[in-house]
Amino acid sequence: MTTPAVTDVAIIGAGPIGLFAVFQCGMLGFRTHVIDVLDAPGGQCTALYPEKPIYDIPGYPAISGSELIDKLLEQAAPFAPTFHLGHPVLKMEPLGPGPNGVNRGWQLELAGGTKIAARAVIIAGGTGAFGPVRLPLPNVAEFEGKSLFYLVRRKSDLAGKRVVIAGGGDSAVDWALALAGIASKIYVVHRRDKFRAAPESVRKMHELVTAGVIDMVVPYQMSGLVGANGHLTEAKVATLDGAEKSIPADVVLAFFGLVNNLGPIADWGLTLDQSHIVVRPDTCATNLPGVFAAGDIATYPNKLKLILSGFAEVAQAAHAIHPIIHPDKALHFEYSTSKGKPGA
Ligand SMILES: Cc1cc2nc3c(=O)[nH]c(=O)nc-3n(C[C@H](O)[C@H](O)[C@H](O)COP(=O)(O)OP(=O)(O)OC[C@H]3O[C@@H](n4cnc5c(N)ncnc54)[C@H](O)[C@@H]3O)c2cc1C
Repeated sequence: MTTPAVTDVAIIGAGPIGLFAVFQCGMLGFRTHVIDVLDAPGGQCTALYPEKPIYDIPGYPAISGSELIDKLLEQAAPFAPTFHLGHPVLKMEPLGPGPNGVNRGWQLELAGGTKIAARAVIIAGGTGAFGPVRLPLPNVAEFEGKSLFYLVRRKSDLAGKRVVIAGGGDSAVDWALALAGIASKIYVVHRRDKFRAAPESVRKMHELVTAGVIDMVVPYQMSGLVGANGHLTEAKVATLDGAEKSIPADVVLAFFGLVNNLGPIADWGLTLDQSHIVVRPDTCATNLPGVFAAGDIATYPNKLKLILSGFAEVAQAAHAIHPIIHPDKALHFEYSTSKGKPGA
């Protein structure tokens, strides 16, 4: 039997809200473990829009998704959280009552068998264990991660490449614009000539089509990938009538949206509302004692799914956790300016 790691607060999700939860818990003196199914911290900011500027983070007129995550990691670092990346949390079970009859906390079980016993849990799981909708072609596995990608980590990786972008939403249009002047060729493949993207971005894309920077391949959809050892040489596209043509290409970027499902979180006995966890807005407490939720996954009346709302929610949750960790100590509210932080 694996001996569980013991901590004060287990944080499920290393997105922006989970990372800020480390800071808020750390400022109140709680040790934290952070778990994410993805291999890297950052949640949607890293996985979906690392290079796009965010304009509504207080104090930053513009900051890219990846810069924000770097800053949050830096802010969390003095509190030395333990990260468990690349593993989903599969189970969450009560540890059972202690001598005072109150539940001692929760045990989390990760894929791979690691167990974590925590006095309290903050679920900052975003939209759940998310992943991209894969390109529906039989040989995609051969190309995925080598020349077929569902997200772009660094646009410089695509410098000088012939890039085929498949999809008709914001991601497809935004990346077509972002790669102009970087990729040597840009093809946008979409099954119809209407795009479900911000009208201003669509207008700019059409300007670049007129200028010969982007080739519009409509009404077509992806029908094949040709190459060897994962290295693409051609993308095949076809109309709904089956007329096929080939595009010489080095890379395909497929943006067909995300598969969102709460995954195992849905089976833990939490009160849910349309795949979100219902919380009290003043504490972020769920219906389970000692379990809190914050960020995109948490819901309450008039919830705004914004990073800044999630930041405030984890501050509420951390303060509400204090009596669980220190039942005999009153919490005296303090500003960070008076309190300072480790190493400062
Ligand atoms: C293109 C785009 C642009 C955006 N622009 C803005 C903007 O300008 N301003 C703004 O405020 N917001 C913006 N958002 C929304 C913002 O990204 C989200 O509000 C934010 O990421 C929510 O953070 P989170 O930490 O709650 O969840 P997420 O970022 O979704 O992170 C949750 C993490 O939990 C992990 N997880 C889930 N379930 C499990 C499990 N069982 N076990 C282990 N790990 C698990 C996931 O893998 C994920 O990494 C944008 C979103 C997108 C897609």
